[in-house]
Amino acid sequence: MDQTPRVALLPSPGMGHLIPLVEFAKRLILQHDFSVTIILPTDGPLSKAQTTFLAALPAAIDYILLPPVNFDDLADDVRIETRISLTVTRSLPSLRDALKSLVDTAKLAALVVDLFGTDAFDVANEFKLPPYIFFPSTATALAFFSYLPKLHEMVACEFRDLPGPIRVPGCVPIHGRDLLDPAQDRKNDAYKWLLHHARRYSLAEGIVVNSFKDLEPGPLKALQEQEPGKPPVYPVGPLIQMGSGEKRGEEPECLKWLDDQPSGSVLYISFGSGGTLSHNQLVELAFGLEMSEQRFLWVVRSPNDGVANATYFTVNSQNDPLAFMPEGFLDRIKGRGFLVPSWAPQAKILGHSSTGGFLTHCGWNSTLESVVEGIPLIAWPLYAEQKMNAVMLAEDLKVASRPKADENGFVGRVEIANMVKRLMEGEEGKGLRSRMKELKDAAAKVLSQDGSSTEALAQVAGKWQAKICT
Ligand code: UDP
Repeated sequence: MDQTPRVALLPSPGMGHLIPLVEFAKRLILQHDFSVTIILPTDGPLSKAQTTFLAALPAAIDYILLPPVNFDDLADDVRIETRISLTVTRSLPSLRDALKSLVDTAKLAALVVDLFGTDAFDVANEFKLPPYIFFPSTATALAFFSYLPKLHEMVACEFRDLPGPIRVPGCVPIHGRDLLDPAQDRKNDAYKWLLHHARRYSLAEGIVVNSFKDLEPGPLKALQEQEPGKPPVYPVGPLIQMGSGEKRGEEPECLKWLDDQPSGSVLYISFGSGGTLSHNQLVELAFGLEMSEQRFLWVVRSPNDGVANATYFTVNSQNDPLAFMPEGFLDRIKGRGFLVPSWAPQAKILGHSSTGGFLTHCGWNSTLESVVEGIPLIAWPLYAEQKMNAVMLAEDLKVASRPKADENGFVGRVEIANMVKRLMEGEEGKGLRSRMKELKDAAAKVLSQDGSSTEALAQVAGKWQAKICT
């Protein structure tokens, strides 16, 4: 039997879940001598982005692909939170088989699931493995999850119809309409799943969250107040991907293009792994960028038919996204704008000295990647908890500006052009940049040898090592 303590990690579907969990795995290996097995539930063949990502994993991380679950019975309009949860739930028999062979060959210390994986706790208990959660979003969202069972009992109407803001312990008061997507329609299955997981969070032996105290002091303080039945919370962030695994000499074209641009001059635009715009909005964004006369690097996806997360499970566009650009656009922006279809090496782009701003959907990994690099933001939330993140970034931390949309949520080209100019060369941009720089310095500090996130990671690792020794 392998004597190195091993941890099993179970990411629920989505690159935004897999990427930070792998970073967590790397820290456990490098700083605490663990081995890690990632057990991946699937609902079909892997996307190209997933395959490339898994192929670049370091040797100390094994992974097991569970057989795809069957979704033939699901309606077409089922929400992603339901689909994500069911992927895990329907994978439990194969998870059991995977753990059975792992416990025979390795010293397993814990099973770590992510935000929608709590049904796997039952299987962990069968093997006497302590169940843990890795929460890949904000401490604010975690505080909301923890508070939801109480809120559910107190409030009968839709949260968005409440006259005043909701006061989640430790958090800035938040309007119901700004809460995460699955909390917007309490009759939908997605809400039932959210509540189901939220109720089970107290069964975890600990919750690791990808945040740090300078970023979210209030929510973290509230989460860490000790109460019976409340699992300890370990803020270990910011854990971000450190490059995308390209081999030397295979630098993507977009990075070579960035090399030729002046320092801090390029706006990077991306809506994460799943985000897509309507056709009208895509075209308007193209015109706005052109009118701004700024340099930009844009990860473009084909437009959706009214679903903002159309590529969540596939990442890649079905059609050539460049074909949806306005006529003559590609010629007119030549030299000043660079378009990448579907997927780009984001961590490297944000770390490149030519990048000076980021128009983002406010996914938490994207946000943390910009914090670590000190890049100010334009917040353009689309789905999941992104609106909550945008509110925090723009109104609380003041590191992002938000475009003004009309009553249908549409942002016009003049607004886009002005906002981009203000970020890249205006006074507003300077202010956002200098506050982002403060967060960047704070992030470096918490990750230093005796920083708070390094210590929090050591505490969890210490618990797992102790479990192996008993
Ligand atoms: N990402 C990337 N290339 C892309 C789009 C996204 O490398 O073209 C990475 C990004 O760096 C981040 C993750 O995918 O680490 C997306 O996670 P996030 O939480 O920002 O958004 P989600 O995709 O979950 O909505």
